[in-house]
Amino acid sequence: EQDVAEYRKSLAIRVSGFEVPRPIKTFEDCGFSTQLLNSIAKQGYEKPTPIQCQALPIVFSGRDIIGMAKTGSGKTAAFVLPMIVHIMDQPDLKKEEGPIGVVCAPTRELAHQIYLETKKFCKSNGIRVSAVYGGMSKLDQFKELKAGCEIVIATPGRLIDMLKMKALNMLRATYLVLDEADRMFDLGFEPQIRSIAGQIRPDRQTLLFSATMPRKIEKLAREILTDPVRVTVGEVG
Ligand code: ADP
Ligand code: MG
Repeated sequence: EQDVAEYRKSLAIRVSGFEVPRPIKTFEDCGFSTQLLNSIAKQGYEKPTPIQCQALPIVFSGRDIIGMAKTGSGKTAAFVLPMIVHIMDQPDLKKEEGPIGVVCAPTRELAHQIYLETKKFCKSNGIRVSAVYGGMSKLDQFKELKAGCEIVIATPGRLIDMLKMKALNMLRATYLVLDEADRMFDLGFEPQIRSIAGQIRPDRQTLLFSATMPRKIEKLAREILTDPVRVTVGEVG
């Protein structure tokens, strides 16, 4: 335990929560498939970043997480890699089912970035990824979603539009990520986030990332996460 505390300190990580899993030191420690390890290596990722060292084992253990770390710390892979493992463990989607993983991001640029990063890890595992944000034809979007996908990366407003159009449904969704939650709040997406979370089964796994934790986000986190582990890297929020 002393060693774990020292290691966390060396990563500038602070955690709070009950029975927090120990951080990993290498991607091999995660028990990833050879295929996923290969695509990680292909990205040039040699070792996990501090937030990945601590967040990956927490998410693999099935716990909800609140992650705070500055931009550029590698938060995307910290939620995308466990999302892929989570999906590989689930029964295949049937027609009119899906998605399993839902990622909400504040802007189309961010949603697109996450989409690109996710696609890189889904080249050889058959996982279908759709990006859902404004500026694209709603009809094309509708058709793509209707064809089915395991992962949706979305801005909250457009996702709500697509849910209303019944382009997709949340019956199989079990993994929800709220990325850059503070920016989503600043952009006025709180009602949409609540609506999306309210449509996904409550025993889902929920991951919330934010650079800052103002009181209104604390309140949301208390309402839509279950017994989350908090991970803070460096000096943020
Ligand atoms: P954040 O969401 O925390 O701002 P990103 O997930 O966008 O950060 O990652 C920032 C950059 O670091 C990206 O270019 C990403 O590909 C790269 N990156 C992520 N994880 C690693 C890693 N383990 N090793 C090397 N580069 C990484
Ligand atoms: Mg990010």
